Formats: sequence, structure tokens, C-alpha cells
Amino acid sequence: MDFDHSPKTQALCRRLLDFMDTHITPRIRQHHEELKAGIFPVTFMEDLKALAKEEGLWNLFLPHLADGESGTRLTNLEYAPLAEIMGRVLWASEVFNCSAPDTGNMEVFHMFGTEAQKKQWLQPLLEGRIRSAFAMTEPDVSSSDATNIQTRIKRDGADYVINGRKWFISNAAHPNCKVMILMGKTDPDNADRHRQQSMIIVPMDTPGVTVERNISIMNHHSPEGHCEITFRDVRVPVENILAGEGDGFMMAQARLGPGRIHHCMRSIGQSELALDLMVERAQERKAFGKYLHQHGTVSESIARSRMEIDQARLLVLKTAQMIDKVGAKGARKEISMIKAVVPLMQTTITDRAMQVFGAMGISPDTPLADIWTWGRALRFADGPDEVHLRAIARLEIKEAQEKPGFTLPYLTAPHRNEE
Ligand SMILES: Cc1cc2nc3c(=O)[nH]c(=O)nc-3n(C[C@H](O)[C@H](O)[C@H](O)COP(=O)(O)OP(=O)(O)OC[C@H]3O[C@@H](n4cnc5c(N)ncnc54)[C@H](O)[C@@H]3O)c2cc1C
Repeated sequence: MDFDHSPKTQALCRRLLDFMDTHITPRIRQHHEELKAGIFPVTFMEDLKALAKEEGLWNLFLPHLADGESGTRLTNLEYAPLAEIMGRVLWASEVFNCSAPDTGNMEVFHMFGTEAQKKQWLQPLLEGRIRSAFAMTEPDVSSSDATNIQTRIKRDGADYVINGRKWFISNAAHPNCKVMILMGKTDPDNADRHRQQSMIIVPMDTPGVTVERNISIMNHHSPEGHCEITFRDVRVPVENILAGEGDGFMMAQARLGPGRIHHCMRSIGQSELALDLMVERAQERKAFGKYLHQHGTVSESIARSRMEIDQARLLVLKTAQMIDKVGAKGARKEISMIKAVVPLMQTTITDRAMQVFGAMGISPDTPLADIWTWGRALRFADGPDEVHLRAIARLEIKEAQEKPGFTLPYLTAPHRNEE
């Protein structure tokens, strides 16, 4: 086991850190001010994207590329520290064409799209010319269980007709969001509940698609949106189906593996920033005759945060390596583990940092409130904690059932199960 990143990764990290220091962090305040003034997309985004592309810091997330597609061909393990660096600034990933939900959608187009679908949608996404959304969650059913979804995709001659309602659809209010991958049911009566769903490509400007509202997250307004959308007799050609009818559930699983780990990698970066802020503040302020870090409770907060980040990072890196070696399916327990561990760790550490800051910690003057809010949201997005805990426990039980009586030799007295 080697805990060092490869020379290739280290070199890319240095270049990325340099780009962040030169072009991103100096614009944090401008970004904040422009959003406050209602300017979105921010004025400098396209220039920064062009610069990142020029420097080869582009599509870093995509491990497998076809000939002619631009990118760095990194493994998940190689990508992890880069995503962490980008994650420190919540809006930075877009500069490098590495932001959700585009990354997951590009993976779906890449893995399952036809040549025509790739040309129409994957290419402009890879080039960063358009953005996209992924629509699965519905207000009327518990969407943690994707077999519940009700949106209907019905074949009618050369078209599919879509009717339903979705919500919390990230990015759908972004002016450059031109396409959505929608999950719905083509065969609601199929006895196999995992073959009822399909994914279909819906251009945002298709008649019958209405963005009803942009839902605030903890009263925080995101201009790119987490939107409620209605679909009324939305007609798209049959060629817009991805893979085949009934393949939706399988593709959702394939999409969510990398998507979940990317969120977790970025969360590690945000947690590091929260700890950096906590440590700085604890050295600046004095209360009751001592610097804050000299108070036992504050130093414990610092120590616990360091331990928790390092534990979480190791688990994320192990998961990344497993995805590289055995695929997202083979790493499903680890993916659930990081998804249950990392966002909770992020909110815990950010909460401590806010406490050390005093009232300023929950104001917009630091990034802590945004980091906490995003960590909290991630405990739902891509599956709530409980669903991941359920998956982990099920896999543990299954593994134990494959070796019955395994623990008996460790008992110091005969057990009732022994012959
Ligand atoms: C910021 C944000 C962005 C999002 N972006 C998108 C997006 O782009 N596209 C999209 O389709 N969706 C998106 N979502 C939605 C997200 O994927 C869903 O909220 C999530 O899957 C849970 O579904 P639900 O809200 O219907 O909760 P429900 O399924 O109603 O679950 C409610 C609660 O029930 C409990 N629960 C559920 N299952 C179990 C279980 N097995 N055991 C014990 N308890 C359980 C959990 O506490 C859970 O939180 C986003 C959500 C947020 C907050």
C-alpha cells in the first residue's frame, strides 16, 4: 500500500493549486458581490473556463475517454486530490468542467449514448458550451426508493410522451442548462420493479416542460437552481431514449457511483477549509485571558476535526481505488460508507468552526454557513444517509451469511448453535 499520489497526480495538483491561487480565490469576493447584485452567470466564468481549458485543467473527472474527446484520463484515485482542491471553493468545479450534475450526465452519455446522442449532447457538454440537469426525484412519492417514481414515459408512434412532476432538480434554472436526463416509467406494470424505469433525453425548451419554481435550500437561494418542474404532454422522438426501455434503474446505479464519490471528494476540501478557518480564528481571539485554542474544548474541536477529516479522506481514497479496480458495482458498500460518513463529518466540523468564530460564523462574511448548508443538503442528495446505512448493513449481513459459525471458535463457552 502506497499512500503517496503518483508523480502525474502531484504535478497536476501543483498546477491546479496554482490556478486556484491565481484565478479563483482572488475572485471569491467578486463572485459573492455579483450574485448579491443578481448577476448570474457571473461575468468572469466563461473567461476562467477558457483559461482552464487552455491550461489542460479540463474534464479532469472523466476516466475513460473515446478518441478525440478532450480530457486528462485520470483514474478516480488520481482525481480525488484534485476534486478536493476544487471543492474548497463551492463554485470552482464549474471552471474546470467538473461540476455536478454535468459530470454524471456526461458519464451517462459517454457510457450509454448512441453516436448521434453523443454528438448532440455529450460533445457540447465536454466542451463546456452547455450545462445539464438530471431529473429523478418527485414530490409525490418517497424518491429514496427509485422504484416509486411515477412520471410516465409513454410510447406514441415515433414519439414518447412524458407526464409528471419532479423537484429539487439541480441546475435547471441555469441559463445554459439546455438538456435534462429524465427518469420515468415506460413499463409500470412490469413484474420486475427494476425494469419499469427508463431514462430519456429532454431538451429544456421542449413544449410542456415548465420550471415552476427554484426551491431554496435552508432559505439559501442558488441561482442555478434546485427546481420543481412539471411535464405536461412533453413529446420527444423515440431516438431520445438512453440505452433501452427498462434500463433506467441500471443506468441510475452506474451514474450515482462516480457522482457520489465526487461529492465526497469535494466535501473533504470544504471540511479542510472549515478546519483552516477554525484554527486561524482560534489563534486570533482571546477570551478570559487566553487564546481560544488554549481553551481545552476548542483544542479538542481542532483535534477531533483533524482526525475525522483524515479518517474520511482515507475511506474516500480507498473507495476511489476500488471503483478503479472493480467498478462502481463492486465498490457499492464503500460508496455507501463514504456517502454516510463524509457529509455528516462536513456538517460536524463546520458546526464546530462556526462555534469557534462566534456570531460571525453564521453570517455570510465567512464561507462556513454555505459549507454547512451544502453538507446538510448532501445528506439527502444522491440518497439519504439511512438508505446508505441500510445498504451497508445488508451487505455485511450477506457476507456473514456466507461464512456461518465463523465466530464460534472465539467463544469461550459452548454456544447453543454448536452441535
Ligand atoms: C440540494 C439538493 C439537490 C438535489 N438535486 C437533485 C437532482 O439534481 N436531481 C434529482 O433527481 N434529485 C435531487 N435531489 C433530491 C434527492 O436525491 C432526494 O431528496 C433524495 O433521494 C431523498 O428523496 P426524498 O426527498 O423523496 O425523501 P424520502 O424518500 O421521502 O425520504 C425521507 C426520509 O425518510 C427516511 N428514509 C428513507 N428511506 C429509509 C430507509 N430505508 N430506512 C430508514 N429511513 C429511511 C430518510 O430519513 C429520508 O430522509 C436533491 C436534493 C437536495 C437536497
